[in-house]
Parts: sequence; C-alpha cells; structure tokens
Amino acid sequence: MRKILLEVNDLKVYYPVKTKGGGLFPKKQHVKAVDGISFAVSEGETFGIVGESGCGKSTAGKAIVKLLEPTEGCIRFEGRDIFKMPKKEERDYKKKIQMVFQDPYSSLDPRFTVERIIGEPLVVNGMTDRKERRNIILRLMEDVGIRPEFLNRYPHEFSGGQRQRIGVARALALHPRLLVCDEPVSALDVSIQAQILNLMKDLQQKYNLAYIFISHNLSVVKHLCDRVAVMYLGNIVELAGKGRLFGNPRHPYTNALLGAIPVPDPEIRSLKEPLEGDVPSPLNPPTGCCFHTRCKFAEKECLETKPLLREIEPGHVVACHMIK
Ligand code: SF4
Repeated sequence: MRKILLEVNDLKVYYPVKTKGGGLFPKKQHVKAVDGISFAVSEGETFGIVGESGCGKSTAGKAIVKLLEPTEGCIRFEGRDIFKMPKKEERDYKKKIQMVFQDPYSSLDPRFTVERIIGEPLVVNGMTDRKERRNIILRLMEDVGIRPEFLNRYPHEFSGGQRQRIGVARALALHPRLLVCDEPVSALDVSIQAQILNLMKDLQQKYNLAYIFISHNLSVVKHLCDRVAVMYLGNIVELAGKGRLFGNPRHPYTNALLGAIPVPDPEIRSLKEPLEGDVPSPLNPPTGCCFHTRCKFAEKECLETKPLLREIEPGHVVACHMIK
C-alpha cells in the first residue's frame, strides 16, 4: 500500500467582501470559495479535482502550495501541518511541492532566457556553482524534450506546448514529490495537450511524483488520474477511483457533468441529460445541499440539511440524501 503524502482536512477558504447592506454602512460578508473539503493523496498517485469554473478547485490548489492562507482546516504533508511549520521546514516543504500553471504564456518571465527560468529555483535555494547548475538545467531540458541549443532562447521564441514543457522543467528543478497542476493543458491545442499529458505520465514514473491535477476537462482527468474528486460550490460532492467515478457515477452533479462531455459522433446522442442553470453565488450559497437549486431529484430534506460525504462502497464517497 502506498504511503500518504498529503492530507487535507476540513479546509475552508473564505474571502471577506463588503456589499451594500441597504443601510449607511456596507455589510461584511464572506465568499465561501472552499467550504470544508477533505481528501488525501498518496505517493506516486494522480489525484484529480474537477468541477465548473468557480467551484473552488484552484483555490484549494493555491492553499496546498501556500499561496494563500486557509480560514480553517489543516493540511499535512508527510504528517506535518504545513501552516505550523518553522521557517526551515517551510523552505523544505516549498521544495517538495511545486505548481504548474495554466497559462504557459504568462507564467514565464518574457525577459529571462530558458537557462535563467529553469535555473531560478536553484539560485534561490543557494546553488551558486554555475557549471553544476547548467548541467542540471540541461538534464531537465532533455527530460522535458527541449533541445539543449535552446538554452539561451526567450519564451516568445517557443510554441505554447514548448513553453509548458519549460514550466514543467522549472517545477522539477528542486526534486519535488508533489506537483499541483492547475489546468496545465487547457490553454494548449488539442494535439499538443496529448503530448504534454504523456510527458507528465513519463515524468511521474521517472521521478515517482504525485500529482494533484485540477481541471474542468473530464476526458483529460479520465486519461491521467487514479482517483477523482468532484467539486461543486466549494464542496466535494463525490470522490472515487477513476473506474468507479466514470463507470458508475452516483451524485446527480457528477452525472450531469459526464452528460456534458461531447460525443465525437453526430449519429450518437449522449444518453445523460446535460446540466441547466448557473452555479449559485458563493457569497450566498443555498441552504441544505449546495446543488439543490439545479437538482431534479431535490426534496424537502435537501433544502434543509446539508448532506455529508458517506462511503457507499470502499473508496467511493458521495454527499447526497437520496443515495442509500
Ligand atoms: Fe439532489 Fe438532494 Fe442529492 Fe442534493 S441531496 S444532490 S439536492 S437529491
């Protein structure tokens, strides 16, 4: 059995906002971007987080890499609470966990060469020997499929796919154990997406990496992930192994998301009904089940009581009152 690397327990991220309250003074409210999610990621595993825009999946990713502070909850990496670490341990943590961003056009500094972009984490972490640094950079370039003669080129001289390869090389520079990949292929052409996904699979094997793969694209998640969590309005509504989630989805929202995947054949109509309506505002989320405003199975209980995640089969949890 694989060892647990990261544990997220009851993570909440609320953003304070001021809204017009009808009186003289603005009213202070909270946008509940992430509202109490829990999951664990094991060594070498690919854990997918899917959901519509605004469901809180990217916010969860940012909290894990410590780009923002949670309102409540705890994140443990290798058994240690990442928000209670002394400075030295925190520096170590930041080496072991890295992020790959969505947009390869804006995530690389246009003024820097490839050598400087990939080498920057090494410099920041005290590697002053230029020759040693260059050898590591060349090895990383080879790993991600960028030719060594491109060492002194600038980001604008590369295609989107090549830039994402450079972003991945930079993320690998400090030998991380976990990569948080936030929509890493959604800005790329479809033909290039497959190349980057295959590269990520190869690198995972080579470096025994774990991935948290955040995406709205269910086909991509199905291709890459071992387990998948489905998020809606800051909550995880279903979590299961890839085979179970795609083969036997139980939550009405998961079913609706799967129903929205286009079938690449005009003769075949998807049997599942697509989802209608918009996601409610996280500033004023619905009472009870957060999905009840769009759920065709909603009953009185759904409007009053929030369903908790329950294990319906080993490793398969769902938050829905109607699933027994
Ligand atoms: Fe639908 Fe009720 Fe289940 Fe929520 S708890 S998904 S509203 S049936």
